[in-house]
Amino acid sequence: MIIEMKKGASEAEVNAVVQKAKSLGLEVQLNRGTDKTVVALLGSHTGQLPIDHFAVLAGVDKVTRIMMPYKLSSREVKPQNTIVEVGDLAIGGNRVIVMAGPCAVESEKQLMEAARHVKAAGASILRGGAFKPRTSPFSFQGLEEAGLALLERVRKQVGIPVITEVVDPHEVGIVSKAADILQVGSRNMQNFTLLTSIGKSQWPVVLKRGFSCTITEWLTAADYILAEGNVNVILCERGIRTFEDSTRFSLDISAIPVVKRASHLPVIVDPSHAAGHHDLVPALAKAAVAAGADGLLIEVHPNPAEALVDGLQSLNPKEFATLMDELRLVAKAIGREIQ
Ligand code: PEP
Ligand code: MN
Repeated sequence: MIIEMKKGASEAEVNAVVQKAKSLGLEVQLNRGTDKTVVALLGSHTGQLPIDHFAVLAGVDKVTRIMMPYKLSSREVKPQNTIVEVGDLAIGGNRVIVMAGPCAVESEKQLMEAARHVKAAGASILRGGAFKPRTSPFSFQGLEEAGLALLERVRKQVGIPVITEVVDPHEVGIVSKAADILQVGSRNMQNFTLLTSIGKSQWPVVLKRGFSCTITEWLTAADYILAEGNVNVILCERGIRTFEDSTRFSLDISAIPVVKRASHLPVIVDPSHAAGHHDLVPALAKAAVAAGADGLLIEVHPNPAEALVDGLQSLNPKEFATLMDELRLVAKAIGREIQ
């Protein structure tokens, strides 16, 4: 249930609403906007509560039931866009943020070269997986802790923030030390123990869409992180499984405007895992920016032919630099900018 307070409602009036909700055993989340305060009431029995119990209280403007299963990620609870701050970067603002780098951290040389190239071309954040959740147990699983150490070293030497994946709820702490943003992979979107652990950490997180999950399931998964008080959630569309097999996955471009309408959270797009082939990545990346994505997550390898993982879909440094030039034009055409 959502309770919108009147403009200028007093602190005492807001408190009275909160106390009433708590006395009914409900959990409360307050969103103090510049204009007015919105009180979200959460609990399994809010559906049975009469609206009048709250509508009669002083300072209350409007009471509505949230009809969707997702609540904290919905625009009903928070009408204004969330901006996730990472250092001096703002994800969800006017600037489109590009995160780029190899699928997996392979060596210091590989990561250093990738970081230098992507930074020079205008990427703001370096990507690289140290823990790789692979479909087969016989595929390269990542350098794990040694990979995190390399990420820390390169982040410092090159001066670029880092995003990397976390797969185990007990490793959120150690991964957060090496990363400015945590990544939850598509296969873990509904790993609720992991989401809760990240929620408690308060660390910025990119939540990738499960490749067989609906937008409703995705936003409901985001609620697990938000429910722990971590508001730094960024959503990432990375392609879904359809009958079409000419690409690795089908990039759901419609997810961008649909999520923007339904949710206040920033949305970025990973064209690499959707495309599965480097030739297709630029078109998908440009389409994503044109459709309103707040950022991109792109695989770039200094030498894709020798990549241990996902070489076919990785851009080489030259291809990435060309794409960045094109993306600047697309962003400009829709009144946004990229570094
Ligand atoms: C990745 O970005 O490294 C990755 C494994 O992607 P996804 O979880 O979307 O498959
Ligand atoms: Mn990959």
